[in-house]
Amino acid sequence: MRGMNCPTCQSNWKQYKAGFNPSGSQRYRCGECHRVYTPEPKQHGYSEAIRLLAIRMYVEGSSYGSIGRVLKVNPQSVANWISAYTAKLPEPPLPERVKKAELDELYTFLGKKKTKSTS
Ligand SMILES: [Zn+2]
Repeated sequence: MRGMNCPTCQSNWKQYKAGFNPSGSQRYRCGECHRVYTPEPKQHGYSEAIRLLAIRMYVEGSSYGSIGRVLKVNPQSVANWISAYTAKLPEPPLPERVKKAELDELYTFLGKKKTKSTS
C-alpha cells in the first residue's frame, strides 16, 4: 500500500495510523501538521474484473443503479467506467452474452469477501 497524503499539508511521509472513525475507516495522523484525518474512500480501488463485469452487465441491459447494487459500487462509478470504456473503444468487443458461470463466480467471490470483512 502506498503512503497516505495529508489533506492539509500534502505531506506524504510521517503519516501514522490513528485508530478508526465511528464507521470503521482507518484514520491517520500527520506527523507534520498533526492533523488527524480519514482518507477519502478510494474510487479507483475496484478490480479490473469488477469494472469489466459492470460493463458487461450494462451491455446486457442492467441499469447503473442495479449494477451498483449487485457489485456494491457507487452507480456514479459504474457510469464513469462505462463512459470511459466506450470512449476508449468506439466498438466494444464485448461478448453478446454474459457467461452465467462467470457471474456466479463473482457473486460468490463478493459474498465471501463481504462475510470475511465483518470482523
Ligand atoms: Zn499534514
